[in-house]
Amino acid sequence: MERTVQDKVVIVTGAGRGIGEAIARDLARRGGRLVVADLDGARGSRVAAAIGEDGGVAIGVPVDVSERASVRAMIERTVAEFGRLDVLFNNAGISQTCPFLDVTEADFDRIMAVNGRGVLIGTQEAARQMISQGGGGKIVNTASIAGKQGYPLFAHYCASKFAVVALTQAAARALAEHRITVNAFAPGVVATELWLQLDREFMEHGLTEKPSQAINEFSQSILLGRPSQPADIIGTTAFLASSASDYVTGQTVMIDGGMVLT
Ligand code: NAD
Repeated sequence: MERTVQDKVVIVTGAGRGIGEAIARDLARRGGRLVVADLDGARGSRVAAAIGEDGGVAIGVPVDVSERASVRAMIERTVAEFGRLDVLFNNAGISQTCPFLDVTEADFDRIMAVNGRGVLIGTQEAARQMISQGGGGKIVNTASIAGKQGYPLFAHYCASKFAVVALTQAAARALAEHRITVNAFAPGVVATELWLQLDREFMEHGLTEKPSQAINEFSQSILLGRPSQPADIIGTTAFLASSASDYVTGQTVMIDGGMVLT
């Protein structure tokens, strides 16, 4: 494997499982020094240990991306351990399916706090650290097809992912003078635990009959004919973390098998 992020210090939030875990494991194999950050600290520690067993360098750090103090502590821990920060993946996110007329203020605020505010805080705190190091660095946000189109059963999730795309563009403009690039990638349907949870919620609303039906329903409009796995994501995220993407900023790269054409 080409060591395209050799010695780079990379934080991936929500890396205790799913897409974030795949990104962290891949970048460790490419030579990165990884901070596996997750709300579930035990989950993050397990992934960090697995990276170590694989010959990589990683630590697990608990974080709640919606709380500034927690994000600051994560960055302080990173700098204490590895001396600097080169790349932040704002990947942690939560979802919920709910018919449009039933979405409550509490549902909306909960999703926006993690998916929207979390990206704002993470980007600000990482940028402060990168600027204090003399500038330069990369921030990569996990958006979604739900950040490009509104879906009636995911109104609040869509609002939060449109926010991710907007913050990506705004931060790219704000931070370019510090040689910090800010990009996003937008998965379509990725077979992770998140979809098992969505399946349960679909059933609660009487929308599907058995687990994993939701993922199949959503997959019908994928040009490439199948939902993705985390392994389908990591080629693009490796590109966005490496110097190969140095002249790319403010972009949201679709990784959705052609589900949404923008
Ligand atoms: P997942 O639920 O499998 O993993 C998410 C991880 O984030 C979990 O380990 C969880 O503990 C952690 N997390 C949740 N809230 C957190 C918080 N406040 N602070 C820190 N960590 C927190 O989900 P996934 O499918 O791997 O999704 C990862 C990202 O990709 C999310 O932003 C999600 O919205 C996005 N996404 C997923 C899909 C998909 O189909 N799975 C599609 C498009 C976008």
